[in-house]
Amino acid sequence: MRVATALIDSAALRHNLSRIRALAPRAKVMAVLKANGYGHDQVAVAQILDGADAFAVARLEEALALRQGGIRQPIVMLEGCFDGSDLQIMAREGIEAVLHTQEQLAMLKAACLPAPLKVWIKVDSGMHRIGIKPEQLAAFHSELAALAQVRQPMGLLSHYACADEPEHPLNAVQQAAFEPLANGWNGPVSMANSAAILTFAQSHYDWVRPGLVLYGASPMVGGVRDDHGLKPAMHLMSSLIAVKPLKAGDTVGYGAAWRAERDTLIGVVAIGYGDGYPRHARMGTPVWLNGRQVPLAGRVSMDMLTVDLGPDAQDKVGDDVELWGPNVPVETVAQCSDTIAYELLCNMARRVRYEFI
Ligand SMILES: *Cc1c(COP(=O)(O)O)cnc(C)c1O
Repeated sequence: MRVATALIDSAALRHNLSRIRALAPRAKVMAVLKANGYGHDQVAVAQILDGADAFAVARLEEALALRQGGIRQPIVMLEGCFDGSDLQIMAREGIEAVLHTQEQLAMLKAACLPAPLKVWIKVDSGMHRIGIKPEQLAAFHSELAALAQVRQPMGLLSHYACADEPEHPLNAVQQAAFEPLANGWNGPVSMANSAAILTFAQSHYDWVRPGLVLYGASPMVGGVRDDHGLKPAMHLMSSLIAVKPLKAGDTVGYGAAWRAERDTLIGVVAIGYGDGYPRHARMGTPVWLNGRQVPLAGRVSMDMLTVDLGPDAQDKVGDDVELWGPNVPVETVAQCSDTIAYELLCNMARRVRYEFI
């Protein structure tokens, strides 16, 4: 019997990469693998997506795990170094740094590196999270240009705050702030995350940085993958471990939070929040079983959840259950849990089994 299992569909990953290439035909692709490849197993995803031009991660440990997994493409650390000692390792391993603070510039000045480092300057075009101000860019660039530790030319990048809402006025503000900097730049330029790849062709520049779309989910507010011809890379599966009859009026699970309105059959599925299925999923969240959707009934437990199979159900112990994947978009489960697909995918627990198809 299958316990909580993430089936990773390599054909879907490659399909999504080719969708991105079709949407941004002139750009190179920096496939974003942070947070264990959005919960898909970063080394395996990198091996499957060996056609990507580079990979991007958030932490040095993530970058080193890719190198140890035999990944030879360029790797970009999206927040750059955290300590001066990171720079030695990054230079040795050919890991590129995004630089966004004066503190990082000081670390680089003080560093004695085995090879010059490839760097990207991050400019804050209006998100106001990380990045140097546009008016500081020229000075920041010329300080870096004077350093032997830096390989020329340098990249320039920025990040959208609201690309998942194409009509949001901040998008145009950010584009207007970034465009003049990008135009005069002598080096690679990058702006687009998944949502911008889908909706703002003018933001594609030299490199696009897809994360979520690679994994086959829509980043758009209220969107689903079919809007963009994407295929889900993860099928989160488990199986029925019990089927039990309930009388009208009986309650199910912790807090007795769900009550049967009629006699029915309850199915118990071997997956819970200890596997990464969201505890806040509302009653009625769809679960796929034997060719139909059945509603979540009762609170999600750590190792189990319960569904209302209906009075005439023929389902049996051992039957396969899909929590999200080809039949239930992870975006739908996210909406039913007041969160986003990103969080559900990243929250896969260590005990979930991974199988690659
Ligand atoms: C995570 C991240 C991305 C990818 O974002 P998606 O919305 O998943 O495409 C791109 N750029 C930066 C700087 C990031 O941190």
